[in-house]
Amino acid sequence: MINMDKHQFKYAAKTVDCYFETPFSFLDELVDKAKTIIITDENIAKLYADKFDGWNMITIKAGEEHKQQFTADYVIGELINLKADKQSFIIGVGGGVVTDIAGYVASVYMRGTRFGFVPTTILAMVDAAIGGKNGVDAGVYKNLIGVIKHPEILLYDYSFLETLPKEEWINGFAEIIKHACIKDSGMFKMLEENTLETFQNDKEKMALLVKRNVLIKYNVVSNDEFENGDRKLLNFGHTIGHAIENIYALPHGNAVSIGMVVAGNISAAVNNFSSSENSRLSALLNKYHLPTTLPYDESGSEAVWNILIMDKKRSGDTMNFILLNKIGDGIVKPILLQQLKLFFNKDL
Ligand code: ADP
Ligand code: ZN
Repeated sequence: MINMDKHQFKYAAKTVDCYFETPFSFLDELVDKAKTIIITDENIAKLYADKFDGWNMITIKAGEEHKQQFTADYVIGELINLKADKQSFIIGVGGGVVTDIAGYVASVYMRGTRFGFVPTTILAMVDAAIGGKNGVDAGVYKNLIGVIKHPEILLYDYSFLETLPKEEWINGFAEIIKHACIKDSGMFKMLEENTLETFQNDKEKMALLVKRNVLIKYNVVSNDEFENGDRKLLNFGHTIGHAIENIYALPHGNAVSIGMVVAGNISAAVNNFSSSENSRLSALLNKYHLPTTLPYDESGSEAVWNILIMDKKRSGDTMNFILLNKIGDGIVKPILLQQLKLFFNKDL
C-alpha cells in the first residue's frame, strides 16, 4: 500500500491533483507510460537513470542560463521527433528551470498538451511548481515570456531531496522564510527553533514543512489568481532581489534574502515594523546560511537603482512595494521613489 496523501487544488480553469509523499513510480498509475514524455535536466537524468527506465525522455542542459527560448525550441524539436500529439502527456521532473520550460512548452505545443510536474528542488516544490506561471527568460529579463497554465498533476517524492546540493537547500529556504514573513508567524517561530540541518536530517519534518508551504502558496494564489491583490505579497524581497540577482549573478535565494533584508529595513522606517522583529528576520536568514548584506560599490548601487526604476511595479514617482506590518503579516504599499533612494545611499 502506497502511503500517499492526495489533495485537489481548485483554480478557475483547472483542478490540480496533488500527491504528497508519493513515490515517483506511482506515476505509472496516473498516466499512460507509452504516451508520456518526461522532460528533465542532465543532472537529474544521470542521478535517477534507474527511475526513468522505460519512459520517453527529453533531457535539457541544467542551469538558469538555459531557461531561454532556444531550450524550448530544442524540446519542441524533440517532441516532434517522438511524434508527440494531442494525446501526449508531458511530465517535468526537476527544479524550477525544468518545470517552467516543461509547463511552457506543453502549453504551446499543438496549442496545448496535458502536463504535470514532479518538482525535485525545494524551490520548485514550495514555489515554482505552484501557481501556473511557466515560461522562459529573454536574455537578462527574467520570466519575460510565458503562460499561466496549471499542471494536471503534481507529485511530491521527497527522496529526490537526498541528492540535492546544500546550496540548493539554502536557496529553497529563502522562499520558505518569505512565506513565513508574509503569512505565517507560527512557521517563522518554528523555523527559529530549528536549523537547516534539522530539516536535512529529518524527512518527516521536511515533508510537513514542504506541505505547509505548498498550502500557503496555493491559498494565496487561489484567492487572487489574476494578481490584483494578495498574490503580489509573494513578491516580498523580489523587487530588489531580481535587480541584484542579475547584476551580481547571485543565486535566486541569495538575492531574495538580501531583498527581504532591505524590504524589512524599509518596513521598519515607513511602516512601523518593529526593530526587534526586523532583527529576528536577519537572524533567521543568517541561521539558514542566507546572506543579509551585499558589499557593493557606487556603480553597483547605481545599476541596481536603474533596474529598480524599470520595475513593473513602478507608476510615476511611486512604486508598489511589499512591506511587513509584523512577521506573518505582509502588505502592499506605494513608496515614494525619493524615499526608496535613501536606502541606496548606504550599504545594503
Ligand atoms: P531551481 O529549482 O532553484 O529553479 P534549477 O532547476 O536550476 O533550480 O535546479 C538547480 C540545480 O539543482 C540544477 O543544477 C539541477 O540539475 C539540480 N537538481 C535539481 N534537483 C536535484 C536533485 N533532486 N538532486 C540533485 N540535483 C538536483
Ligand atoms: Zn523567488
